[in-house]
Formats: sequence, structure tokens, C-alpha cells
Amino acid sequence: MASHTASQRYLSTRGGSYDFSFEEVVLKGLASDGGLFIPEDIPTLPSDWASRWRNLSFEDLAYEIFSLYISSAEIPSADLKDIIRRSYATFRTKDVTPTVTLDKDKNIHLLELFHGPTFAFKDVALQFLGNLFEYFLVRRNQGKIGRAREHLTVIGATSGDTGSAAIYGLRGKKDVSVFIMHPHGKVSAIQEAQMTTVMDANVHNLAVDGTFDDCQDFVKALFADPEINKTHRLAAVNSINWARILAQITYYFYSYFNLIRQPSFLPASTVRFVVPTGNFGDILAGYFAKRMGLPAEKLVIATNENDILHRFWQSGKYEKKPVHGKEAEGGIPEDGVKAHESGVKETLSPAMDILVSSNFERLLWYLAYEVYSTSSDAISQRRAQAGDHVRSWLNDLKSEGGFSVDPKILEAAQQDFTSYRVSDDETVDTIKSIFSSPSSQSYVLDPHSAIGISAALRSAEVSKPPSTHHISLATAHPAKFSNAVERALPDEKAYFEEKVLPAEFKGLEDKPRRVSLVKKTDGWQGVRKVVIAEVEAELQAAERASK
Ligand SMILES: *Cc1c(COP(=O)(O)O)cnc(C)c1O
Repeated sequence: MASHTASQRYLSTRGGSYDFSFEEVVLKGLASDGGLFIPEDIPTLPSDWASRWRNLSFEDLAYEIFSLYISSAEIPSADLKDIIRRSYATFRTKDVTPTVTLDKDKNIHLLELFHGPTFAFKDVALQFLGNLFEYFLVRRNQGKIGRAREHLTVIGATSGDTGSAAIYGLRGKKDVSVFIMHPHGKVSAIQEAQMTTVMDANVHNLAVDGTFDDCQDFVKALFADPEINKTHRLAAVNSINWARILAQITYYFYSYFNLIRQPSFLPASTVRFVVPTGNFGDILAGYFAKRMGLPAEKLVIATNENDILHRFWQSGKYEKKPVHGKEAEGGIPEDGVKAHESGVKETLSPAMDILVSSNFERLLWYLAYEVYSTSSDAISQRRAQAGDHVRSWLNDLKSEGGFSVDPKILEAAQQDFTSYRVSDDETVDTIKSIFSSPSSQSYVLDPHSAIGISAALRSAEVSKPPSTHHISLATAHPAKFSNAVERALPDEKAYFEEKVLPAEFKGLEDKPRRVSLVKKTDGWQGVRKVVIAEVEAELQAAERASK
């Protein structure tokens, strides 16, 4: 049995907040000083992890890992197990995130993360986060009835993937409402259908007759509005929520165990993880896994043409590209900031179209902590110092559009990570070549996963098989991004319809929808009106039902 006793506390990357509980961190999302929450200590693995964890199911492995980050005084073991069980019962495969071999000769494997309800990797984290929200609220509301109950109003903007994963994570959850804004007519047909055909009373889709930027601005304005914050407890589900990073650690371990059981993995073999990256959330979970003790030789960052991370790993400079018009960067809302007027390039892999990567701040803190202090300094002093560095870098990012780190920091970053940038043309070529390669048996990659594979193939030229295995993360099902797939495989329409398109997508666009239209000219106050009215109606209906 795991000793589920860790008394883990959390601090802010900008040095302004310490000693937070897991529950506070999950419900707050962002620290009051603008920083992101990280665990005070990265837990190390129990000495017998390699043998004891080796054959665990995904759920049992998740339990072992989460137990190292969540104190049992906060969530008792039985409750945590139940939350995990319910979170992954919605997945279509028994092993939740299977690993398949794509190229035997080159030792390239795919970690399939798209078997959840919305067919993209964000489900792994958002199914868990939704259950956590509900668990904390229901516990706070024990013995309370009607208006005395705390109610959470989750608000987000989406250009596609996050919105649907958040809706499926929160649908039907007690004491929680979710409002997701999307630019009307500007998200893909399948994503719009996924979001708006969910009929649960606590799910509210708002279609704004503007751009993703406008939606994003509305969200920011609502979070900054004292009036609604007085009457409603607002929460965000963006990729900076710590629980999302935590949930993603599991599959790095799970896939590793999957790999080492294969005969092609020799005692001297090493493994590289390749991660299609936007906001740096998915790959950051790999960093935590590695720091805990998972033997990964390198983490490979794969970016599209929005390549701020790749440029950093080349030069030590973290810079937004020349920005036209207003700026768009991290902050409360989410979704890889797809902002057309802001210097973000629209690519075939839209979930990775970002200007800056909000979770990168967490890595910066650890780099500063390791490089700038010595172990003879008091821990509190080392932490404060790391926070000071992060705050000053992020200030420069905001005021000057970028910053550079000294060579020691870059060197430390290069020890754990390497990076590749992949263009749209290479993305299309990779989908094509993998489909037609005899070894991969007509496997159809989605454009995001293709960026990972393209980087993996390049990495495999440097770090060669047979000694190195590459596990590349497949972040979405190809049917979710069918326009890129059609471009790559124009003659395979029939094959796609028959062999690739999931049954869940067939007829989805004809199902009844529930969505409120919001006029851009009504402004964020118009959105506020709709949110307040719809939460009120929801609460009244719940009261009537309980009578
Ligand atoms: C969100 C997303 C990514 C990027 O993940 P980050 O955690 O932002 O790096 C990649 N692929 C798909 C399909 C996504 O939805």
C-alpha cells in the first residue's frame, strides 16, 4: 500500500504566496501575485517503485502518483481512489492511454491520449479536474441547502479543444455551472457540435459574434469585475490549473512501463519523450515525472511555427515575435491564446497556436532555484530568490516583450529538454508518409500528433535506435482536425469515413443544440447579464426539483 501521508503544500512562482493546500490551489487556479502554483517539493519516488508500480493499471498508478502530491488529510485515500475511478471510467479503452508502436525499426512509439470523451488529450486532465471541483464543493456544502450552498461558476473562452474538454469534464456536476464562450462560426464544425449538443442544465455555451480575442477579453473583464465577483464565485479551468499538470504525469509513467515490457527494450536502452507543445502544460508534466525519477533521457519539445519555445532553447531568449496591434498573452483565459491580430500565426495545428507559453513560468522557477542558489542557503531564502528571478523575467516579458537568461540557465534547461520546430508543410508530409509507410499500417495522424512524429524522426537521427526509443505523444484523434488530414490524404476520403471516423461523430452535427448568442456590441456587461440570468435560472430549477 502507498503511504498516502505526504503533507504537500504549494507556493507561487512569483514569491508572493506560500503554504497553500491542494484544495486552495485547485479552486484558485492562479495565485494572487499573478504567479502559478507549484509544489514546495517535488516528491521522489518510493525506493521500490520500479517493481511495485510496473504492472499497475492506469488508475492504480494515478493513485500512487497523486498520493505523493495530495495529502491524505486533504483527500482520504478511498475518496481519491473513487475520484480517479470515475474520471477514467469515461474513456473508451481499458488502459486509458495505450502506447502503440509506429515504427519497429526506428523504435518510434505513439502514446495515444485521445480515447477520452472529446477525443483529445485535455480529457485526461479535465475529467479529473471536474470531479475534483465537485468533490470540494459538495464537501463544503455538507448540511447546507438551497442558497446557502457554495456554487462555482466556471468561465472560459475557447477556440476549440479546451472548451469541449471542459464541458465534458463539468457536465452534470453538482454545485458547478460552466460557461464557455466561442467565436460564432469560427470554430470547426465538429468542435462546435461537440460543445453545443451537451444538454446538461449546468452547461452554457455562449456564441459571440466576434473573434477568439473578443471572447478572451470578455473573460478577462469578468474576472476583473468586482460586481460579479461579489455575487458569484468564479473559477477557471485553463491549462495553468495545477491539477491539470498533475493528472498528466500518470501517462508518462504508464507508457514507460508499457515500453520496458516489450522485448525490443534492452537493459541499456534509453527513452525520449516527444511532446507537441503549445502552452507547455503537457510537457511540464513530463518534467515533473523526470524530476521524480522517471528515467527519461530527454524531453523533446515539438512546436509548430509559433516557436517561442524552440527559439528559447536555441538562444536563451524568450521573446514574443513582433506584435501587431494589441497584445495577447497568458493570464486568466486560456486555450493557447489564438489571437489573430496579435502576432500568432494560424497553422494546421491550432491547439498549439500560441504567442507565449503560460506554463513555462513554472520551469523557470525550478531553473532559477537550481542554478542561482546553493544548498547551503536556507530553503526559504532559495525559494524567495527563485521567485524574485521569475518575477523580474515575467515583468520584462510584459514591458519589453521578452527577456534573456544567462548561459547557466540555458544550459540547465538543455540538460532536460531539446526542441524542434515543424512547419505546416512538414506536418502534411508526415501525415502522408506515416500513412503510406508499410511499417505503420495506414495509421492516420492528426496534425498535432504529426508534429510530434516529425520531431521524433529528426531526434532519432541524432539519438539513434536501437539504443534509443522515442515515445511521441498523440494529442488528438485525426477526425477532430479532418481538414489537415484531408489536405494530406485527399484520395483517402472513403477510407477515412469507414475506418477512421468514430461512431460518436456520425450525425453529431444534426443533434439538437443549446447555445446563447451574445452580441459583441453588448460588451462584457452583456455577457455578465447572461451569466447571472442563466445561473439564477439553474438554481431556481434545482430548488424546484428538490421540493
Ligand atoms: C492543448 C493541445 C496541445 C498543446 O498542449 P499544451 O499543454 O498547451 O502544450 C497539443 N495538441 C492538442 C490536440 C491540444 O488540444
